[in-house]
Amino acid sequence: MPIRTRLTILYGTILTAMLTLFGAAVVAVVAVALPRTVDDVLRETAKAILEQSTGPIDTFTIRDFPNLDSLSDVGVAVQIINREGVAVNTNLKGNLIGFLDSDSLKKSLAALNGPYVEYQTTVRQRGMRPMRVLTYPIVGLESDQVFGFIQLARQIDDLEGAIQTLIFSMLIIGIVGVVLSAVAGAAITQRVLGPVDQITRTALEISRADDLNRRVPVTGNDEVGRMGMAFNEMLERLTSLFRVQQRLVADVSHELRTPLTVIRGNAELMYAMGCVDIESVEAIVKESERMTRMVSNLLLLSQADSGQLPMKVKSLDMGAILEDIERSANIMSAGRHEIRINVCGDLVVRGDEDRMKQVLLNLVDNAIKHTPNDGRITIAADCVMGPDKNQQQVKLSVSDSGPGIPAADLPYVFDRFYRVDKSRSRELGGAGLGLAIVRSIVEAHGGHIDVESVLGEGTTFNVWLPAYEPNLV
Ligand code: ADP
Repeated sequence: MPIRTRLTILYGTILTAMLTLFGAAVVAVVAVALPRTVDDVLRETAKAILEQSTGPIDTFTIRDFPNLDSLSDVGVAVQIINREGVAVNTNLKGNLIGFLDSDSLKKSLAALNGPYVEYQTTVRQRGMRPMRVLTYPIVGLESDQVFGFIQLARQIDDLEGAIQTLIFSMLIIGIVGVVLSAVAGAAITQRVLGPVDQITRTALEISRADDLNRRVPVTGNDEVGRMGMAFNEMLERLTSLFRVQQRLVADVSHELRTPLTVIRGNAELMYAMGCVDIESVEAIVKESERMTRMVSNLLLLSQADSGQLPMKVKSLDMGAILEDIERSANIMSAGRHEIRINVCGDLVVRGDEDRMKQVLLNLVDNAIKHTPNDGRITIAADCVMGPDKNQQQVKLSVSDSGPGIPAADLPYVFDRFYRVDKSRSRELGGAGLGLAIVRSIVEAHGGHIDVESVLGEGTTFNVWLPAYEPNLV
C-alpha cells in the first residue's frame, strides 16, 4: 500500500477517534447539565410556592396555594399532595389530575418519618411528552414533620430535541471533518511526497540511460529538499569517481604501452636477427622491471583506497627513523648534495615502520632527483600543536633547493600519473605514482600531506601525523 494511502488512513482514523471522543464528551456533559438546570428551576419554584402559601402549613387546603394556574402558563405542572397521597391542589386539568410521578410519590410517602429526600426523575409515558418531575417534601416550620409533598413537572422534549440536534450536528460536523481532512491529508501528502516520486523517477532514468550527468530537482530546504541535495551530491561524487576511474584506466593503458612497445620491438629485432642481442635483452629487462614496479604501485594504491593496506602498527621513534633516512639519502645522493637533518625532541607516532620509511624515501628520492648537484636537502621533524589545538602532531618535512614546482601544477602533484615535466620524469624512471602513494600511506596513518614551492628557490613537502601520547590512549 503506498505511503500516501497509509498516511491518509492513519490521519482519518486518528481524527475520527478524536472527534468521536470529543463529541461523546460534549453530548454527555450537555445531557447531564440540562436536566440539572431544569431541576434547579423546579426546586426554586417549589420553594417560592411554599413561601407564598397563605394558610398554616400543617392544615393546608386548596385555597392556601394561590396562583398555581399562572405556573401552567410557563409550562410547569404543579400538584400539592397531602400525607395521605391525595392531590389537594393542582394546576393539572382533566384526566391528568393525580398523574405526575406516582413512583416517587410512593417512595416519599413510605419515608414520611424521614429521612426526607427530594426525588428528581424523568417520566416517559406512552402518548405523552417526556417530563422532568421533582417531588419535594413540605416540612413544618418548627417541627421536622412532613405535611405533604409538592410535585412539579416540566416537559423536556425541547431539551431532548436540543440534545438530539447536538448529536446530529456533531455527527455531520464529524463526518464532514473526517472527509475534508482525508481529502486535505491526501493532497498534502501528495504535495510532500510528489518530489520524492520525482527523485525516484529521475534516479531510474539516470540508471536506465546510464547518464550520470543528470541531477534530481531540489525543491526547498526541507527534508525532501535535503534528500534531493544529498542524492545530487552522491551523483556528483559518483561522476567524479567514474571520471577518475576512466582516467586511471586510460593512464594505465598508456603507461603500459611504452614498455610493451619497447619489449616487443626488441624481441622482434632479436627474432629478425636470429640471435640474442645483449642490449635488447637489457632493454627488455629494464622495461619489465618498470612494468612490475608500476603494477605493484597500483596494487598498493588500490589496497590503500579500499582501506586494506597491510600495516604492522607499532610506536615509532621518528628521530631514529630520520637518521636511517639521512644515511640512505647520503648513499642515494652519492655526495652530490648537502644533506641536513634537523630533529627537535622525542617524536613518537603510531605506524608501520616500513611504510613510514617508504614515505620519507620517496620524498627524499624526489628531492635528490630534482635538485641540481651541490644543492641542499633538509630532512626535519618537529612536534607542533594540531589545528584544533587538541592534539600534538609530528611534522616531518623534506625540503630541497631545487627548481621548484609551478603553482599551477601544485594542486595536482599528488594525483596518480601526474608529472610536471613528463619527458624528464620518465627519463628519471618515474611514472607519476610516487606522491600518490606517499599521500595514501600518510592518510592511512591518520595524517595529511601538503607541499610548498617557490620557483627557483625550492620545494618543501610537509607530512603531519598525530603524535603518540600514551597518556591519552
Ligand atoms: P614520479 O614518480 O614521476 O617522480 P611523483 O608522484 O613522485 O612522480 O611526483 C610527481 C611530479 O611532481 C614529478 O613528476 C615531479 O615533476 C614533481 N616533483 C615531485 N617532487 C619534486 C621536487 N622535490 N621538486 C620538483 N618537482 C617535484
